[in-house]
Formats: sequence, structure tokens, C-alpha cells
Amino acid sequence: MDSSIDEVAAQPGGADRTPPATPSRPPSPPMPAPTEPPAGDGSGTAPGPASGTAEHDGRAAPVPAAGGEDDAPGTAPASGTTETGCPGTAGLAAGGAAVTGTAVTGTGQDSGSGTGGGRGGPPTSLSPSRASDFMQCPLLYRFRVIDRLPEKPSAAATRGTLVHAVLERLFDAPAGERTAPRAKALIPGQWDRLRETRPEVTELFADDPDGERLAGWLAEAERLVERWFTLEDPTRLEPAERELFVEAELESGLRLRGIIDRVDVAPTGEVRIVDYKTGKAPRPEYAEGALFQMKFYALVVWRLKRVVPRRLQLVYLGSGDVLTYDPVPADLERVERRLHALWEAIRQATETGDWRPRPTKLCGWCDHRAHCPEFGGTPPPYPLPVGPAGSSGTG
Ligand code: SF4
Repeated sequence: MDSSIDEVAAQPGGADRTPPATPSRPPSPPMPAPTEPPAGDGSGTAPGPASGTAEHDGRAAPVPAAGGEDDAPGTAPASGTTETGCPGTAGLAAGGAAVTGTAVTGTGQDSGSGTGGGRGGPPTSLSPSRASDFMQCPLLYRFRVIDRLPEKPSAAATRGTLVHAVLERLFDAPAGERTAPRAKALIPGQWDRLRETRPEVTELFADDPDGERLAGWLAEAERLVERWFTLEDPTRLEPAERELFVEAELESGLRLRGIIDRVDVAPTGEVRIVDYKTGKAPRPEYAEGALFQMKFYALVVWRLKRVVPRRLQLVYLGSGDVLTYDPVPADLERVERRLHALWEAIRQATETGDWRPRPTKLCGWCDHRAHCPEFGGTPPPYPLPVGPAGSSGTG
């Protein structure tokens, strides 16, 4: 197998961030840069698959638990990061392409609402999390995007945010100092920062006066951080971007946006998109769902840079798995068609006010059951004008 993509580690001192403007996958010459260990050497990174095929290391794992981070359809509510500022770091700039790439220092949940700003606005863009919401349950999408109903922070999602922040900040250190003890030492400071920026997370431990639950929660964050070192070697990585906010407008006018945990760019220009998950890897039959978010990002990067990312990599810290996928243009075109269909469905629901509940076992983790007709609740008054097609009554 071609192992070069496992070596998409940018050189210290700056990699070539301007890959050739080609929509096809570049060849895979050996990388001259310092690299990650080759596939199959015990690094935990499975050998790369053949073009256009998903690969899973075969370890069975349950669907991510409640509050887990998987944005994919069919999983628990998403968490992630929020673009909370720090503008000015341009990323993934491509010649001639309209680029919005901003490194963010977010520690909050991905609002990803795609609303025009303000409560009650119609959706104007799509993020992977919100696309997954609509696929899971249109009414859930409405509650989150249009009504913007508040949600309680969850311990698992908040821990995911904390771990993401630690992994991001670790790359501030010189390569040789990116050790597990150093990473673990970042946890208290990042937890303090998270409490400052999102005071509501302190509610999680309001009923924990002796700090026992908090200590266990932080210990689990340490374990997740430690496990990362069994999967990747940060002393041999120099990310081109971390926590990168990307946004692209498709020809149809649909705006896609999201935050990519890490972008590695090899000296050859090959791009690897990396996402950390603090939950467990999905079973192989759910891998496609897990990859939806990554293909979404790959489509955005393709549209911005005019180059198809060479590899998509999901790093599951909860189970110690790495799921990789090497996309081809046809994959991303399929995702684009799917997103257009989704957006049309969202547009129709927005106009008609017909946001149907779609109950599944995931309802158990939904914060909005009190407003959901499936659970005897009543949605708040629909805040948008309803078109001539009328409403089905959920709004
Ligand atoms: S509780 Fe209702 S709104 Fe929430 S996911 Fe289930 S069906 Fe959708």
C-alpha cells in the first residue's frame, strides 16, 4: 500500500501550504519530511485503504455514547468547538479561490447553527453538526437552529471540548517537548479557561461539593489525552492549521461551514484532514456515517483550494482507533448532491413550518423532549412566516 499519506506531516518551520491547484489526487512520492511512524508499526494507525474506500481497524465498538462527539447521523448529540474569535489567521489560502479560513481558539460547543444571526432567523448555511441534526430529526434541527432553545452542557461533550483544547495548545510547544506529561499538565489551565469562557459548564459539578466527580472527570480527560500518544506522535507533526474555521459557498449559493481540528499539509502539497473524537469508534457498519462530517470538510477544502484532500483521518481517543478514508472527487460530488437535497428539504421546512419529529433511541439524549410532540410537549410558536403550503402543526 502507498504509505506516503501516513507521512503527511509538515516540516517544522513551515510546510508548503499551497498545494497545486488540481482537483485530482496527487501522486504519492515519498515524503522528505520527518514523518509519523509508517502504517502497521504499532502506531495504531491502520494502513491506508485503497482509493475511495473506507477502512476500519475492525475493532468492534459501540455507537458513541450520549454526549459523545460524533457529529455523524445516528449518533448522540454533537459537541465540538466554537469559533469564538481569534480572527486573522488565514488558512488554506488558494490562488483565486474565495477563502474563509480562520484559526479559532474555541472551546465551546459548535453552534453551527447556520442562522443569519439572532434568534428566529432562517438558516443561511450548513455545518456538519446541523446537517446531521436534520438527518436525525428535523424538529431537533428546528429547535437548535431556528428556535435556538438552550441546551444543558453534558459532561462528555464538555470533556471533549477540554481535550480538544489541550491537543490544540500542545502544538504551541516545540516539537521535542510535546510529551504526554506536558499535555496532561495543560488540562487544569484549559479547564480554568473553559470555565471562564463558558461559565455554564460549572453547572456540571454544582452538586459535587467534595470534588470527587470532577476529579474522576478530569482523570478520564487525562486518559484520553494519554491515549492520543499511542495513536499519533506530535513530536513528528507540524500542523498547517489547528481549529480551522472554513467556509465555502457552492455554485448553488449554499454556504458550508465548519471547524477542522487539524490540517496537515505535506511538502508535496498533499492535505490530510484530522478530527479528534473523544468517544469510541463506531462499528464498521456505521463508518459511513462517521465519515460524513469528514467528507463535508473535504468538500469545503476542495472548493476552497481546488485540491481534494489526500486523506481524512478520524482519531478516536475513547477506543484508541483511527479511521481513515482517502476520498476521490466522485465521493465529494456525491456529498455535494446530498447536501443540496438536504438544503432543499430544510428550505421547504423553513417555509412551511413543517418540522417533523423523528423519534429514535437518540431521543433519550435530546434536551428538548419537553417541547416535542412525541413526548407530549408543544413546540414554541414558530418564529418565522409560514408560506402558502401551510404547516403540519409541529410549529
Ligand atoms: S425528542 Fe423529539 S425533537 Fe428530540 S430528537 Fe426525539 S423526536 Fe426529535
